[in-house]
Amino acid sequence: MASVAVSGDGSRGRNSPWQPFQGPTGGLQPAKAKKKLLRRAGPDHSQQLRRGFQFAFLALNIWLAGEFYLWVRQFEVGGAGPFSERPTGVEGWLPIAGMMNLRYWLASGHLPEIHRAALFLFVTFLAMAFLLRKAFCSWLCPIGTLSEYLWRAGQRLFGRGFQLWRWLDIPLRGLKYLLLGFFVWAVSGMPAGAIQEFMHSPYGLIADVKMLNFFRYLGATGWTVIGGLAAASLLVPNFWCRYLCPYGALLGLASLLSPLGIRRDPEPCIDCAKCAKACAALLPVDRLVSVHSAECAGCMLCVAVCPAEGALAMSLPRILSPSKRKNRVPGWVLAVAVAALFLGVVGFAKTTGHWRSNIPAPVYQQLVPHAEAARHPMPSR
Ligand code: SF4
Ligand code: SF4
Repeated sequence: MASVAVSGDGSRGRNSPWQPFQGPTGGLQPAKAKKKLLRRAGPDHSQQLRRGFQFAFLALNIWLAGEFYLWVRQFEVGGAGPFSERPTGVEGWLPIAGMMNLRYWLASGHLPEIHRAALFLFVTFLAMAFLLRKAFCSWLCPIGTLSEYLWRAGQRLFGRGFQLWRWLDIPLRGLKYLLLGFFVWAVSGMPAGAIQEFMHSPYGLIADVKMLNFFRYLGATGWTVIGGLAAASLLVPNFWCRYLCPYGALLGLASLLSPLGIRRDPEPCIDCAKCAKACAALLPVDRLVSVHSAECAGCMLCVAVCPAEGALAMSLPRILSPSKRKNRVPGWVLAVAVAALFLGVVGFAKTTGHWRSNIPAPVYQQLVPHAEAARHPMPSR
């Protein structure tokens, strides 16, 4: 795979670890006067915190998957109970159901009865994007975590990373928006009654079981696609997130409204470009004053590597306070905000009895063993 120097939103054209830097004409750049480095006062702990969140959330999801598998198996083997509890958190893996339920809630004014947790999790992650940029992608999402560690492994393996040609990168980045557009179009046109009908159909009731079974009985094509995505992720940072994930596309668009953002102060900045080299979204952070891109995941990798005091920070807009220092949002504040939002909404839904769908065990007993027979009903618009 060849790599080229590119620039603009979502890509960078120089000083990239994915290719040796050549200027726009491929020649040397005129030398700039070297600025004096005022070293930052203390180390940045955002990445230790972020890694902690990533692995805790990954572990939570592995545990949920294991519990859910056992819950499904007891119906498949015809166990007579007592039934273990269904781990409702698996509904976080049903973002389309979450979107449909949000549409139902807005259209009808009533909370949905089925897959309520999908709604609460969908709204939580959307709110997170509005407030804290794409913190869900870089702090919580298990796919994001796997993607990140795959490209890190790739860098170790090949000693470098790769970047697609710009002519390919830009249209490919559009794919996730096309997928998102399709889902938004399909869901926004559904009346509340049609959504309720869908959710109460056998397919809707056990959409989570269908999803589990999809991965359990993955055929050769499925494994080939997953293998291909994993291989591509070794080479190109966050391949899935950058090009294909419609959820990330939605959160990225929502994050454009976030008051938080990466802001660079050109005065203390020494133009070392370490921030741009560290950015997994391939953003030219070293040449921007404010990173305003739907691709920015709020990972703070750029902030963590910046050597200059006060040069780069996740911060609130200047309009809120004239003091640059007060506007800065350190990693621990972002971590607390992510945890508070997640635990707050889930805790609220649980304590108010809005977390679980009230589907009786005999209904599951009837549907789960014959999940393959439940066909996707044609949604009415
Ligand atoms: S926070 Fe920094 S490193 Fe992370 S995606 Fe945004 S600009 Fe890139
Ligand atoms: S903002 Fe970027 S270019 Fe400027 S000093 Fe920090 S890491 Fe270097």
